Order: sequence, then C-alpha cells, then structure tokens
Amino acid sequence: MKTVLITGSSRGIGAAIAKNLAKDYQIVINYNKSKDEAMNLLKELREINPMVIAIGADVSDEDQVEAMFKIIEDNFKNVDILINNAGISYFGLIQDTPFDKWLDVINTNLNSVFLNSKRAIPKMIEKKEGVIINISSIWGDFGASMESSYSTSKGAINTFTKAMAKELAPSNIRVNAIAPGMVDTDMMKRDFSPEEINQLKEEVGIKRLAKPEEIAGLVRYLISDEASYITGDIIHINGGFY
Ligand code: NAP
Repeated sequence: MKTVLITGSSRGIGAAIAKNLAKDYQIVINYNKSKDEAMNLLKELREINPMVIAIGADVSDEDQVEAMFKIIEDNFKNVDILINNAGISYFGLIQDTPFDKWLDVINTNLNSVFLNSKRAIPKMIEKKEGVIINISSIWGDFGASMESSYSTSKGAINTFTKAMAKELAPSNIRVNAIAPGMVDTDMMKRDFSPEEINQLKEEVGIKRLAKPEEIAGLVRYLISDEASYITGDIIHINGGFY
C-alpha cells in the first residue's frame, strides 16, 4: 500500500481526503491545534485500516516537519503521495492587516508547501515515483478583496506547482494543484455569516457550496494511475462559480 501524508487533516477538506483514501492507502493524518478531532478521526479510520497514524506538527515550522517525516519513515519508510492541504485564512483590509498576520498566512499556506515538498521529494526521486497535490483556491487566480494575503499565498502555490512539475517530471513525479471555490467547512463559517454564505451561494452556478467529500473525490482521481498524464496543472472545482 502506498503512503499518503495529508497536511492539516484533523478537520474539513483534509479529514474528508483521509476518509476517502483510508481503504486503499496507508494514511498519515497531520494536525496542529485540533488534537481531539485528529484522535477521533484516527480511531474511525483504524477500524477500516490499521495502517493509519496521526502526527501533531505545525507544518510551517521546518523542525516540526523534519520530526514528522522521521516518524513517518519509522512507520512506513517514505511518503509516496503528499497532499499539501493545511491552510488558514485572514479577512481584512490591506492597510489594517498586521504584518504578523500576513506572515502567518504566507508561512502556513505557502511555506509549508515548500517545506513538506522539499522533505518528501528526495525519497520520491530515489523511487522514481511520486505524486504531490497542493490545495490552492479560486482566489489564487482571481484575487479576493479583503483576502489579499490568502489570495497571494494561493497564487504563489499555483506558480510553485508548475515549477515543481517541470523540475520533477523527469523523475516520474507528478505535481498538480486543486483550486476549489467555496467549500462547506469551518473556514467558510468562520469568515462569513450564514446570511453572507447564502448570498455567496447565489453567485455559484450550482447554487450551493461544495461538500469537502467532493474535493476528496478529485484528489482520489488525481493521485491514481488514471491521471498518469496530468501534471503541472491547476484543476478548478467550483460548481460553475465563474
Ligand atoms: P479548515 O476546516 O479550517 O481546516 C484547516 C486544516 O488545516 C485543519 O485541519 C488545521 O489543523 C490545519 N492547519 C492549519 N494550520 C496548520 C499548521 N500550521 N500545521 C498543520 N495543520 C494546520 O479549512 P478547510 O476549508 O478544510 O481548508 C483546507 C484547505 O483548503 C486550505 O488550504 C484552504 O485554503 C483550502 N480551501 C478551502 C476552501 C473553503 O471554502 N473552505 C476553498 C478553497 C481552498 P488544526 O485544526 O489541527 O490546527
């Protein structure tokens, strides 16, 4: 069984990806603050597959990433598939954004993708096989008012995805990004009131938010051999938002 590391999989989209893949892959759940949620998920998934572990690590911190990969390598040898999913949002005007909040978003959303990919790549090159999926956002293409740090982090993820894909294609490693529109998770509920979410739904072709499971289904396809010719792409999944 191949090993999949899903960063930020205690909740939301990451947890849905772990649930979708647990039957067929060895899973590494990663959490930062939500240990209880991660432990509940671990218990649930172990009933399907004993080869699931959960590791606490802030994936924007190089030392913690290193410690996490050491635990993974002790348990499963290497990471075959890396899903860079961990992310946070920050909502506010540019002139009101404290610099440390800007840095938090860039460190968590973007620098974590660099740190985890950098750590996973050498063993993938050694095996001449690997897949990396970066969870981006529609705002990485279009930019969102009041979400400049978030939009910037996701735009940079898109560029990094394309650069990585070119560099790693000769080693048979595929790298793609998924750019969801609006997904029904804590992130949306934290940033928008129920009334605002209802207004936003009106702008979506399908007139609803995505379920996290719908993003997970796309991940399952993209990491499979059926997607063997897809690399360097930003795949949009937004219910006809634009
Ligand atoms: P969420 O429900 O708020 O979950 C975020 C996850 O990221 C949690 O599991 C959290 O873990 C983890 N995380 C945050 N900072 C971390 C860190 N420093 N180290 C390790 N884990 C960390 O958000 P979501 O909606 O599932 O978002 C998942 C990804 O999808 C993000 O990259 C987000 O930008 C992207 N996305 C979301 C939407 C949307 O509408 N929801 C749309 C497009 C893209 P802890 O709770 O354990 O700290």
